[in-house]
Amino acid sequence: MSDAAARSATAIAADVQAGRVSAREITEKALARVAAVEPRVGAYLTVLDAAARAAADRVDACIRAGERLPLAGVPLAIKDNMALAGSRTTAASKILADWVAPYTATAVARLLAAGAIPIGKANLDEFAMGSSCENSALGTTRNPYDLERVPGGSSGGSAAAVAAGEATIALGSDTGGSIREPAAFCNVVGFKPTYGRVSRYGLIAFASSLDQIGPLAHTVADAALVYDAIAGGDPMDATSLDRPVEPASARLRDDLRGCKIGIVRQFDTQTLGDDVDAVYRRAYRDLEALGAELVEVTLPTADYGLATYYLIAPAECSSNLARFDGVRYGLRVDADDVREMYARTRAAGFGPEVKRRILIGTYALSSGYYDAYYVRAQKARTLIARDFERAFQSCDLIAAPAASCPAFRFNAKSDPYSMYLMDYYTIPMSLAGLPALSVPCGWVTPDGSTRPMPLGLQLCGPLFSEPLLLGAAHAYESATGHARAHRPALDEAVDHV
Ligand code: GLN
Repeated sequence: MSDAAARSATAIAADVQAGRVSAREITEKALARVAAVEPRVGAYLTVLDAAARAAADRVDACIRAGERLPLAGVPLAIKDNMALAGSRTTAASKILADWVAPYTATAVARLLAAGAIPIGKANLDEFAMGSSCENSALGTTRNPYDLERVPGGSSGGSAAAVAAGEATIALGSDTGGSIREPAAFCNVVGFKPTYGRVSRYGLIAFASSLDQIGPLAHTVADAALVYDAIAGGDPMDATSLDRPVEPASARLRDDLRGCKIGIVRQFDTQTLGDDVDAVYRRAYRDLEALGAELVEVTLPTADYGLATYYLIAPAECSSNLARFDGVRYGLRVDADDVREMYARTRAAGFGPEVKRRILIGTYALSSGYYDAYYVRAQKARTLIARDFERAFQSCDLIAAPAASCPAFRFNAKSDPYSMYLMDYYTIPMSLAGLPALSVPCGWVTPDGSTRPMPLGLQLCGPLFSEPLLLGAAHAYESATGHARAHRPALDEAVDHV
């Protein structure tokens, strides 16, 4: 991996702050790395060369003027469902392929104000619907650890950019697992804060009651740094929470003494195959070795998570995506009357998975079916949240797999249902609004391959437990160091930059 990428955000910011290196130099290195590896990885839909250089020069001027910037000069990848004023913001959809955002998302603005450098807009599954990035209508992203495999999704471009050294930190969004699963697949840390902790202003809505922005990074400490910069209420997002944010960076710890960690009875890893099972069993033992007390907890309704999510998320998406009508912005396919124009625009603009969800969601919300599907799903959601509340009476955190398998090959999950199953371990936490993260926890070599691929351990805590959660993940990460065991396959084929 390139020198620039191997360094942490913390170290880069400290160097830039102290004047040992300029933000502009860091930015040039990052852009050179992007130029060298993008043809293989395809993490970005847009590379922001000019904006990155301008931002770097601004940061350098601020530093010279004596300002303190916690992310000074840190290269940032932004998932392309977040608005950045003046840049193309596509949600990886043909319907927004040429849309230039007139404003900047709050989370992005906060990172830029903290000194981060926007390197590019990262690929995703169209409108964040998917688990592999294969639903992107605008590009293919490859897993830097095996270019024949997917990076995960929907924040696959964000995860791949960090893993490939094309950014030091990234923003992703997580509705049902879209930060945690690609983080696991690409050997990086991915963190979804409590619902409402981070403003969604400027995030193109998929399922508004679930969508949450969060960081991807090489280390838990870097993820905490990003979280500290983006968390907190925002008058532009009525669902953001205006309660004080306790900085997570200050709570990173080295052991888990006094911490009770719940292992979910329903999430038995034995069915996942011997090698995957062994990695998770080992991870649980490592938590114990760090001083945690492991307790069994039960989430009796967790198995309903998938069915619940795949009603609520499409229902909300069918309503949110109604705005793409060819009238105000985005693609328009003209016709003689307005109804035909809507139909042609939406037929041409949306990909198959997005259409499937709009259809399912519209059906679930239609009169006569609303009570049977949507209302029941909302009730199931409440039961799932209550299961977690009960579980957290006997533990501080919950440990689980982030995904049931390592990154798979392209086209391996061609039917929608097998793709939906990828979210089995991440969706229950999303439905309950809980903070959860994935941290690298070991490697397996998939059948028919010679390359080890990473797995992620998911840790989840009660609402607003971010400092505890990141603190515990940091202890696990420092004691095990799994992320460093292998390097991206990419580096075998590309000259170091
Ligand atoms: N894979 C899930 C879906 O397709 C989750 C996506 C997400 O979290 N944005 O809906």
